[in-house]
Amino acid sequence: MFPHFEEVHMLVKKTVREFVERRVEPNARRIDQGWYPRELLREMGALGLLAPHAPPEYGGPGLDFRSMVLVVEEVAKSSPALATVTEVQGVMIVHNLMHYAAPEARERWLQPAVRGEKIIAFALSEPCCGSDAFSLETKAEKIGGTWVINGTKLWITSGMYADAFLVAARTGSPEEKHKTVTLFLVERGKCVEVTPVAVMGMRGTGTAEVKFRDCEVGDDAVVGGVNGAFKVVLDDLNNGRMCVGAIGLGIAQGAIREALSYTKKRRAFGTTIINFQAVQHHLASIAARIEAVRGVVYTAAYFRDKGSELFPLYAQVAKYLGSRLAVDAARTAMQVMGGYGYSTDSKVEMLYRDAKATEIYEGANEIILNTIFRLFEKHET
Ligand SMILES: Cc1cc2nc3c(=O)[nH]c(=O)nc-3n(C[C@H](O)[C@H](O)[C@H](O)COP(=O)(O)OP(=O)(O)OC[C@H]3O[C@@H](n4cnc5c(N)ncnc54)[C@H](O)[C@@H]3O)c2cc1C
Repeated sequence: MFPHFEEVHMLVKKTVREFVERRVEPNARRIDQGWYPRELLREMGALGLLAPHAPPEYGGPGLDFRSMVLVVEEVAKSSPALATVTEVQGVMIVHNLMHYAAPEARERWLQPAVRGEKIIAFALSEPCCGSDAFSLETKAEKIGGTWVINGTKLWITSGMYADAFLVAARTGSPEEKHKTVTLFLVERGKCVEVTPVAVMGMRGTGTAEVKFRDCEVGDDAVVGGVNGAFKVVLDDLNNGRMCVGAIGLGIAQGAIREALSYTKKRRAFGTTIINFQAVQHHLASIAARIEAVRGVVYTAAYFRDKGSELFPLYAQVAKYLGSRLAVDAARTAMQVMGGYGYSTDSKVEMLYRDAKATEIYEGANEIILNTIFRLFEKHET
């Protein structure tokens, strides 16, 4: 057992592995072909796997972020798309609502979200602004006692199917950038228009452009206080980025598993190709990086659970190294599998497309490096 874990984490791992084998692996291709795995999310919720850190009063098992990281890692080995939806729901939404939503909203949305009965999308990015998210243009104006929201969000995971959206909107002067942005919980309704966005990988996650036209909500829909989005989003993104590291770790293991299985069967020059040292070296170099990234991701989760000040740095490092590993591992697996690896019959083809997204979402890696530099300098001095 890895030193950061306790017996309970091994139980979580066993539960999620069994679920992945029984329900995720047989459906991974279907998800990649565009099937939104709503029923799997509900089943994960029932098993306490969608938000393992949620306490029993909100319908969760009351575990921690180490459990969350183990869940997304295991799911990502078979379906990075399902792992992505899980991570958004469990971390960006449930954690957020638990800590920052008004009592009425917690009462109404938390249990169904933890159980996977209601899906909520995280809507920050816009056509104008992704990396520079706090330049966003979506507006919320208070008219009488009601907030009226107008604007367009882009690249929203689960956007096509979500029952509600956690929307970041401008609530003051744009010049004040991050100081005038507020989060609102907006239920899907007639004022919300969704359009699918075709993507290279992470298919089946319901990626959408989402337009809000005169959506009306009350004060109880505000999450994290008026003009309080920045703090909440930073907290969210640290947790989310740690989980993206775990998704990368899962993708890398899934890719290497495929490569091993194939190269042990494929024959060339009178032997199976796994016997060629060049093939072994390709796989060994990825295996070494898997162990290194495992250490970083698990340490990040341990720091998160223990409230260490090093957590933000480790969360960014996990995201950066995990996503790069995912892409390199999928490419290496494809290389040692030759033409078959490149064919759409092989799983590594899907993993290769999925892996690329991890270098972009929840902060493009260049933005992650900017943050790593800032945090690294802070901890150095
Ligand atoms: C599959 C997928 C799912 C997503 N899901 C969601 C979601 O659920 N909710 C949500 O809100 N968003 C989501 N996103 C959006 C995602 O977070 C953004 O795509 C990401 O933050 C990058 O923003 P952008 O696409 O606008 O790129 P840009 O901001 O236009 O960046 C383009 C390039 O410029 C570089 N760049 C920009 N600024 C700097 C700088 N200061 N220093 C160095 N380089 C810089 C970037 O690193 C990048 O390489 C998703 C994206 C994808 C691909």
